[in-house]
Amino acid sequence: MPTLADIVTELESRYDPRWAESWDAVGLVCGDPSAEVRRILFAVDPVAAVAEEALDWGADLVVTHHPLYLRGTTSVAATTFKGRLVHTLIKNDIGLFTAHTNADVADPGVSDALARAVGLTGPLVPLSPSADDPRRGLGRVGSLAAPVPLAEFARRAARGLPATAGGLRVAGDPGRHVQRIAVSGGSGDSLLATARAAGVDVFLTADLRHHPASEFMEASDGPALIDAAHWATEWPWLADAAYHLASASAAKGITVETRVSETVTDAWNTTAKCEDFT
Ligand SMILES: [Zn+2]
Repeated sequence: MPTLADIVTELESRYDPRWAESWDAVGLVCGDPSAEVRRILFAVDPVAAVAEEALDWGADLVVTHHPLYLRGTTSVAATTFKGRLVHTLIKNDIGLFTAHTNADVADPGVSDALARAVGLTGPLVPLSPSADDPRRGLGRVGSLAAPVPLAEFARRAARGLPATAGGLRVAGDPGRHVQRIAVSGGSGDSLLATARAAGVDVFLTADLRHHPASEFMEASDGPALIDAAHWATEWPWLADAAYHLASASAAKGITVETRVSETVTDAWNTTAKCEDFT
């Protein structure tokens, strides 16, 4: 049976920790490298519901996209939800591993899975290539098989992503035909100017705020915007990461069981329609 160290080596060969941003915190959060690992749960967020799922399933390791401790800590006492999570995991011999910005820029990475989920076909190239290797980078640019109205693309994208309370928000002429699309999993504010410079028809990402989006749309010749739930834009990567880990392990004669969490851990869990002004 593989050890946690074997699995970490495999994951880091695909998601090199050196690719992570300097502010990020990736890699093994808890777990004994010599522990045996058979069942691995993949999830976006290291939160209590995911720890419960890991416990119920009998997971030995949880791989999450988001870090548990991004800014460091001086205590893992079970007096905070983070400390409680660490206690739950350690008491039950469950490791926690994070692949965050190193998975964003990997090839294939988080945005490749997002691009496929929303229907992009053919080759994908990074929206913002990494300086050291232009085959990797943030975001992806690809195309739809044929041009479709923006509203139709948004409907397809919504069908391709896991359901969340907020669904998708669209900025732009719904009837405008679109084909070349840029996507970026997670918060994509910082890539707005890059998406405009890339000359795409649509930029699909998450966490877009009023002012950057409003100013972006004032330039009428720019891309339309689609804002999805943060969790939903990163969730498609989980199946990709799980598949590659299982197949790379199998090629070495190692059998691991993987599972993708279907617990919706997006922060927004319901919506309310506003009344008309009239
Ligand atoms: Zn994220």
